[in-house]
Parts: sequence; C-alpha cells; structure tokens
Amino acid sequence: MFDNLTDKLDKAFHILKGHGKITDVNVADTLKEVRRALLDADVNFKIAKDFTTRVKEKAIGENVLTTLQPGQLMVKIVKDELTELMGGEVSGVNLSGNPSIILMSGLQGSGKTTFSGKLANFLKTKKSKKPLLVACDIYRPAAINQLHVVGEQIGVEVYSEPENKNAVEIAQNAIKHAKANGFNVVIVDTAGRLAVDEEMMNEIANVHAAIQPQETLFVVDSMTGQDAVNTAKAFNDRLNFDGVVLTKLDGDTRGGAAISIKSVVNKPIKFIGTGEKMDAIDVFYPDRMADRILGMGDVVSLVERAQAQYDEEEARKLQKKIAKNEFGFDDFLNQIQQIKKMGSMKDLVGMIPGAGKALKDVEINDDAFKHVEAIIQSMTPKERSKPSIIDVKRKQRIAKGSGRKIEEVNQLMKQFDQMSKMMKMMQGGAGKNLMKMMGG
Ligand code: GDP
Repeated sequence: MFDNLTDKLDKAFHILKGHGKITDVNVADTLKEVRRALLDADVNFKIAKDFTTRVKEKAIGENVLTTLQPGQLMVKIVKDELTELMGGEVSGVNLSGNPSIILMSGLQGSGKTTFSGKLANFLKTKKSKKPLLVACDIYRPAAINQLHVVGEQIGVEVYSEPENKNAVEIAQNAIKHAKANGFNVVIVDTAGRLAVDEEMMNEIANVHAAIQPQETLFVVDSMTGQDAVNTAKAFNDRLNFDGVVLTKLDGDTRGGAAISIKSVVNKPIKFIGTGEKMDAIDVFYPDRMADRILGMGDVVSLVERAQAQYDEEEARKLQKKIAKNEFGFDDFLNQIQQIKKMGSMKDLVGMIPGAGKALKDVEINDDAFKHVEAIIQSMTPKERSKPSIIDVKRKQRIAKGSGRKIEEVNQLMKQFDQMSKMMKMMQGGAGKNLMKMMGG
C-alpha cells in the first residue's frame, strides 16, 4: 500500500538527518520534497500546498520546545497533519433506524456490489445484525445476478424484482419486505454508470428521497486518484452523502484519493476494501493509515486481525498436543491456514513497523505457503501425525507427489523440527525463564 509515497517521504525526512535544528533553509528543502511526494501520489495540488504550509508553521513553532531530533520532529508533525487531513477520528456507520437503511452510490466498477456484500457480512458477523441486500440495478441483469452470488456466499438474503424497471419501487418494496421479515439492516445496491451522468444522478437522488436512508455511502476506486475526488464531489453535490468507502487499496494505489477526498467533500472515509474476498473490509482509522503511509507499520490492526482469528478452544487443544509431543504436520497446516486468514502476506508485512521498508525489493507473495501446503498434502496421515517416520525414501515420494524438490522437503522438515522444539521450550521452563528475564 502506497509504497512509492512512503519511500519518497522517507527520503524527504533524510534531508534533516545530521542537522541539529530545524532552520528556514532545511525545512524548506524537506517540505519541497514532501510536496513533490504528495503530488506524485496524485494528491490535489492545493491540498498538498496547504499541507506543507501547515507543517512548516508547526515545525518552526515547535522547534525550540522539543528535545526531538529535527527528522523525528518532522515525522511527528507530518503524521499528525496526515491524520487530520484524512479525517482525524474514526467514524462508524449509523445504524439507528429499524431497519437501518444504507444506500450505496458510486460509478460502475467502483466495487459497489462487492462492498455491499462485504458490509452485509461485516454487520452480520461483527455486529450480529440481520441484513437484507437489495438489487436495485434496473439496467444490467448481470448486476442482479452478481449480488445474488455474493449473497449466497455470505448467507445473506437478496431482494430483487428482475421484471420491475422502477428503482424507487423496488427499494420501497424491499424495505416493506425487511420490516415484515425481521431484517434490521437494509443495504441498497444501486445502478452505476461508467461516468457521472444526469439520468443516473436523478435516479439515485429519487431513490434517496423516497427511502431516506440513515446512511448513504459513496464507493470509489482508489486507483483512480484525482478522478476519484472529482466523482466524489459530483455525487456529494447531489446526495450529500454521509461517508466514503475506498476500494482496491490492496492494489498499486498511489494514495492520492485517500489523502485528498476528506478535505474536498468534507465527509469521512468510513471503510476500505482491500481485496476481492468478502472479508477484505477494514474500518478506516486515519491515524493508522498515516502510520502506514509513513512506513511506521500498523501493529494495532495486525494484533486485531490475529485476535479475530484466535480461537481459545483450538489454542488449548494445541497446547495439550505440544505438551504430549503430538504436534504434527496437520497442526502445522492448520497454523498456516490461520495466518492466511489474516490477509495476504504483502498486506501483513506492511503492518510490521519497518518491515515494508526493509523488504521493499523482495517479491512477497503467498506462493511459499502453497508449496508448503502441497508438500504436506502429499504426506500420508500417518506421516503427518508422526513426522519422525519420514525417512529418505518417504521424502523422495513426497517430493515427487507434490512436484517440489527434495531440498524443499528437507527444509520443511527442518523448519518443522525447529518449530516443535521452540514450542516445547516455550511451554516448559525456558519460557518461564524468558519471561522472568524480561521482567514478567
Ligand atoms: P460495481 O460495478 O461498482 O458493483 O463493482 P463490482 O463490485 O462489480 O467490482 C468491480 C471489480 O472490482 C470486481 O472485479 C471486483 O472483484 C473488484 N473489486 C471490488 N473491490 C475490490 C477491492 O477492494 N480490491 C480488489 N483488488 N478488487 C476489488
């Protein structure tokens, strides 16, 4: 996420390295680079200019009052300003109505239908809601089908009237259906066009007026940079929406949309989409995003993701197995699957402070997991539960079966061995001693 911007800002802060104090001259040089980095990331020109002006005022002002190094001080000020620019506080979605009505708006291809599904899934699993999805696209039958596919995936009912060509009527009928059947959230997915046009705007404005949603969300593809900001403005002028959803932040986005959109429409970014799967949705936290932009990682999100996957029952079972020396390859596979559920490796590495920068030239993908899985899947159940029986002959068979080299099988066996030893140690006295050493 935003690798290029992170890199350029880091270089800008380097200018201050070795300087004992922030001066008019070195701050000007640094901020010139900061501004260039923002413009390269497709941040709106005026926003970038105002941003650096504010940073400069603060930097000169705070200069004498702090014991921080100039470079550190600058990073701190830029971080605070970035957080502010992206909205300051986190904003939730308004679920006050019964049912709460959420209207989705945005251009075709922005990720509206995908996000409608993600949001329904999020509200169902994280907030114990009973959502109803509504297909209101009266032009593209494929769009209605797409929502049905999504609904099936997440186990959420989808309301549609394929023969009806009146979007307002469909939305109203859907709300009646929701009330009669105990749904407490209604998410209305509307038709999009490839570009902003009058007919589309009128239609969604009519739906908006008729159903009076508690929450109108504008969905935008973050890859479209400045265009994203212009589209947001056009939609906001008509709908006065409540919040923004930035999709496709997992891609090669430059970051401009995330940084500019709030100050142009004065509406908060509420969620981000980070992948095509139904669980690739995150609440947007301006401060965490600022940390990530500055290459400072996002440990809080990383821990939260780990916690979301943590299953106490499973953990207890695993502990018992380790204690009894019964940890096998099936458990190993299980652990890998847990990690995979937390997100793509690239995404996870980006959340570790400093790791993104240190590994920026390393190609990170999830293939390594695939190979390990293939090798384990080529083992017999007996081999998996009792790895000590795996001799050279068995290794050869496993390598052949999985299409990997024997060296890779050896390497995996070694890693497995080390991991088992380490886990055993953490359970026994060594773990306790380690805790003592750390003052625990
Ligand atoms: P709509 O026309 O606005 O309803 O857009 P869709 O929901 O059909 O999404 C358009 C394309 O973008 C689809 O291929 C989605 O799989 C993809 N997509 C949506 N959200 C994301 C995201 O957060 N990340 C990535 N990588 N792809 C996404």
